[in-house]
Amino acid sequence: MPIFEYECARCGAVGSEIVIGSQRPPAPACGQCGSRRTRRVMSTFAVVETEASRLQRFDPSQAQGESFYKDSRNVGLWAKKRARQMGVDLGPRFEATVEKARSGKLIKDML
Ligand SMILES: [Zn+2]
Repeated sequence: MPIFEYECARCGAVGSEIVIGSQRPPAPACGQCGSRRTRRVMSTFAVVETEASRLQRFDPSQAQGESFYKDSRNVGLWAKKRARQMGVDLGPRFEATVEKARSGKLIKDML
């Protein structure tokens, strides 16, 4: 069954829907704010994005969709963005911690 991802034009939430049958259904309402102004986006697996552009696009003041938290590449993004906004250099130790967290090693190290 194909799964489409969609993005809300109003609040930016990203959701997904399973499509049954071959017909393209109308754009679903946003699961977060109920807006009908949603648009299909390409599957995140098909999109190659640099961290710089992810950081650029990421807005910490907006609620993030469920898929955001499931994507390990977003680990540490919030802290990095905030630090950048405040002009704080988190340093190489922070970078190393984020990399560990993203690869799942952090959890293993704590056990
Ligand atoms: Zn929305």
